[in-house]
Amino acid sequence: MSSPRRADRHRGRRAARLTIGTLVAAATAVVALPAGPAQAAPAKVVYLTFDDGPSPRYTPQILTLLSQYGARATFFEIGQNVAAHPGVTRQVSAQGHSVQNHSWSHPDLRKISKSAFQYQVAATDARIRAQTGTTPTCLRPPYGGVNATVRSGAAGLGKSIQLWSVDPQDWARPGRAAIERRVLGAVKPGSVVLLHDGGGDRGQTVAALPGILRTLKSRGYTFAPLPCR
Ligand SMILES: [Zn+2]
Repeated sequence: MSSPRRADRHRGRRAARLTIGTLVAAATAVVALPAGPAQAAPAKVVYLTFDDGPSPRYTPQILTLLSQYGARATFFEIGQNVAAHPGVTRQVSAQGHSVQNHSWSHPDLRKISKSAFQYQVAATDARIRAQTGTTPTCLRPPYGGVNATVRSGAAGLGKSIQLWSVDPQDWARPGRAAIERRVLGAVKPGSVVLLHDGGGDRGQTVAALPGILRTLKSRGYTFAPLPCR
């Protein structure tokens, strides 16, 4: 994926070290040091996340774009959509993306009983596990609706709650350019970007994705799944 490029970069650095090194040893040391493992410290990673799928229409288009840019992402899927389109969930997982829990039917988890909460999470877990072989460890509560009860309920089911740090409000369909501009204007290393592959017409999100991927990649970012496993 990105390994040949990384190798090029390392070769480039080594070459720079040989030529400049004899002249300005001290400066070279400063340049050469970050080329090693220290490169991981200020990791320019973006965590793209897609909620409310899987969608037989939009999810495959998003998968194609992610694969074109060597990007991996996290999909917070709704259990009843997994039940309706299990093959799409399988495809998401098979392409190296992380599939995590976004409840069974998208209620506000703050407003339902404890047993309903447990069903929302457990039934979704079961459907995802049946397609991916992996039980989600991250839960994204619908609407970002979190309180102490939701937190303790999630912890009791072995889930960590995962929200986001960049929200371009793509669900409201503000236009391709606005989605792209909002994401590119807000992303920092480690950002978790909220996007949607389900729950309505996601054509604008699909249309915004190439510009987002291309620009962030040119800024030196890589795209990884959230560490949910
Ligand atoms: Zn949602």
